[in-house]
Amino acid sequence: MLKKCKACNLPETYETIEFDADGICNICRQKEFKDSAIDWSSRKDQLQQLIEQYRGKYAYDCIVPFSGGKDSTFTLYHLIREYKLKPLVVQFNHGFMRRGLLENNERTFRKLGVDVISFTPNWHIVKRLMLEALIRKGDFCWHCHAGISSFPMHIALQQQVPLIFWGEPSSEYTAYYDYRDDEIEEMNEEKFNRFANLGITAEDMAGMIADDFELDPRDLKPFSYPPLRDLKKLGYRSVCLGSYIPWDVKKQVGLIERELGWQGDQVEGMPWSEYPYEKIECHLQGVRDYIKYLKRGYSRVTQMTALDLRNGRISQEKALQLITQYEGKKPPSLDLFLGYLGISEEEFNSIVAKTVVPPYLPNFNAEYAPRTSDYYSWYREPLDNRGIRRKIIPIVRK
Ligand SMILES: [Zn+2]
Repeated sequence: MLKKCKACNLPETYETIEFDADGICNICRQKEFKDSAIDWSSRKDQLQQLIEQYRGKYAYDCIVPFSGGKDSTFTLYHLIREYKLKPLVVQFNHGFMRRGLLENNERTFRKLGVDVISFTPNWHIVKRLMLEALIRKGDFCWHCHAGISSFPMHIALQQQVPLIFWGEPSSEYTAYYDYRDDEIEEMNEEKFNRFANLGITAEDMAGMIADDFELDPRDLKPFSYPPLRDLKKLGYRSVCLGSYIPWDVKKQVGLIERELGWQGDQVEGMPWSEYPYEKIECHLQGVRDYIKYLKRGYSRVTQMTALDLRNGRISQEKALQLITQYEGKKPPSLDLFLGYLGISEEEFNSIVAKTVVPPYLPNFNAEYAPRTSDYYSWYREPLDNRGIRRKIIPIVRK
């Protein structure tokens, strides 16, 4: 049995967790601080000052990195409606965007009236990066985290727009950065190295895959953070809106549903009626959550109910019932994922088994979770494009 927080159920395998003498975790304690001790009205003044410093002076007032999920959609909405900003929306398309998400995005862009830059990286590289990150870290999402965090910074430089607005602060979920520090969290290269890239830079990655993959050094540029020197010269500020206003997911979801026609979706392995708004961006979310469960013995149901428990929106009894009923099931998208990488489920299991966090012991024989209604529209790799396209190594004749 894993040791768990008495208040929110997060287990000892959760990153950055610590328990106090009462068995309460540091993330729950941070939340108490956020509610009681942060002076949100002074934070709001700081936001106004920041905005006025940049308004009207550049090609755009700010850049909003945008996935189309609830947080970036709310961020974009709030900056336009409350502050009348002219943002440039920058979207890094990881390659697995779902139909419902693309429809949400179109409604949002048309309703708010914004310029949008969207970028999709080379699929062959994405597949090679997914395999490498899965093997090294048990987390195939390196390409996505690295791309989402660094690509908008390249656009900031290209367009010479120094102010970048991300959405929720990471203090909401982890203890890496602490509300208690009482300073505004900057999304910078240090932060990028700390959690977006799993400790692997694009340069490292190039070295790891160059032996068997036909790599052009330029291929990894969208995944690498731009030089700090250039960003400093631009006078950049890269901040989270959630550092300035209290982040209330449920309230914000209600707002974007009403105002923008934003719609939630079914996500594999989640209770669909309770959590239709969380992580709807990617059709591989179910695989990601499944791997997390195999590694650490919890996944997104635990995380979401933990957040609701902290906000007093769910009973402990209901939380435990949802966790037992939904968590740990095998996602139907696993088959598609295996097809992309050209590996068998046995190979997948043995890769993941090497990354398990003790004392957790995984079960690889769980039953399947139900298919979502858009399952059959997800990309399937044809047989002749499965797996990684390996470099042809010339045979040296003597
Ligand atoms: Zn807790």
